Amino acid sequence: MDIFFEDTIAAISTAQSPAGIGIVRMSGPDAFKIADRVYHGNNNKKLAEQKANTVHYGWIRENDRDLDEVLVVLLCAPHSYTGENTVEIDCHGGILSTRRVLSALLKNGARIAEPGEFTKRAFLNGRMDLSQAEAVMDVISAKSEYALDSSLSQLKGSLKTRIENIRGKVLNELAFIEAALDDPEHYSLDGYSETIIKILTEQKAAIASLIETAERGKYIEEGIRTVIVGKPNVGKSSLLNLLSGKERAIVTDIPGTTRDTIEETISFGQAALRIIDTAGIHASGDKVEQIGVKIAKDEASGADLVLFVADSSRELDDDDKNILELIKNKKAIVLLNKSDLPQKITADEISCLCDKKVISISASEGSGIEMLKDAVKDMFFEGEISFNDQVFITNMRHLAALKEAEESIGFAIEGAECGIPEDVYSSDLYAAINALDKMIGGNVSEDLVNEIFSKFCMGK
Ligand code: GDP
Repeated sequence: MDIFFEDTIAAISTAQSPAGIGIVRMSGPDAFKIADRVYHGNNNKKLAEQKANTVHYGWIRENDRDLDEVLVVLLCAPHSYTGENTVEIDCHGGILSTRRVLSALLKNGARIAEPGEFTKRAFLNGRMDLSQAEAVMDVISAKSEYALDSSLSQLKGSLKTRIENIRGKVLNELAFIEAALDDPEHYSLDGYSETIIKILTEQKAAIASLIETAERGKYIEEGIRTVIVGKPNVGKSSLLNLLSGKERAIVTDIPGTTRDTIEETISFGQAALRIIDTAGIHASGDKVEQIGVKIAKDEASGADLVLFVADSSRELDDDDKNILELIKNKKAIVLLNKSDLPQKITADEISCLCDKKVISISASEGSGIEMLKDAVKDMFFEGEISFNDQVFITNMRHLAALKEAEESIGFAIEGAECGIPEDVYSSDLYAAINALDKMIGGNVSEDLVNEIFSKFCMGK
């Protein structure tokens, strides 16, 4: 393998908090040499002389001072994450031990890695394409089971395979056009427009079906932006606390205590909800509460899902009906809370007023939540998702690139349909290929690569 990088980088790859084990990673041509300057094992063995994929017990030492007791893992190029010689030092977890070991490596010739630099090297050394590299970060930051499964499937190359497939077909046609223009005696373009229209239409449809997954992809990746609305004292904060599993919002029986919005991402079944607790929506003379009510209305209008909580132990009143009116065009679920108390509102009564799904819950007893999870899954994911055979576009950059490619292929189809010469619309095919390359990383600019990896965390 060609050596792209002459320097050797190092960083702490695990979280900087007390833990069983901390890992300091070093990658580059001098990784073994630098490790040997600080590593002391039995019988003075040299790491550089050991076999690949072996683990060695010893100490990291500096000027005869023991810094930590360690296990050192040796991975040889090209069979490592980065594709370079890599040393992983397992030291004691803890802020000081990992820092000491890192500092010893830096004093002995390594350079501190930039955020995402290990993965950037993996990409530039051809160990993975750009969609896989980006999936690495998504795996780390996954907020739900769905997000993790989707990122792992992209890490395995599910998106890359789809894109390479489309790109390959477009490239084939482009190559044929070029060949025919260069060598008309052997390659004829007679009747070709029919063939290319058919092939491009198929590829455009393949792109469109990927674009279609982006809405669900957003719910998968970022969570469903959910707003809890309802009058004061119906149990909104209690519901939020129940869903998030902690005492997040203050629960009181004095109406109107939640005056600001509180947002948090919580895992909900296999999905995640980005949940916003709003001030009680009701007609109020209190100025602070009026602000809260305005926020609640604004949040509800920008939300993917509205959970309308009503106190089913009280009669439905005008405030409740106003809120139902407010959410009539939204994806919403009506939660009849306090189902543990004698009931004054029935699901049928709500169903007469709106066409929303109605679920009885008790925030204080924790009942009804499984039904809510199923309802959310049906509403946003059409039931179960299999990440084995479905790819979801979860990255907005990818979505923009796909739309660009779709448009360019569309132009080329129009060109072919209007009988425009092939060498004219072939520029649209080039544009489509360039757009697809932005996803998998062929011919992407250094600036874009740097921007993508700068968002990574240290040590990855
Ligand atoms: P919010 O103003 O809508 O956020 O309502 P809170 O969550 O502060 O709850 C108001 C009151 O209703 C508190 O005293 C809660 O303990 C009580 N509460 C909330 N949910 C339930 C429930 O399911 N059953 C019963 N019996 N009381 C509840």
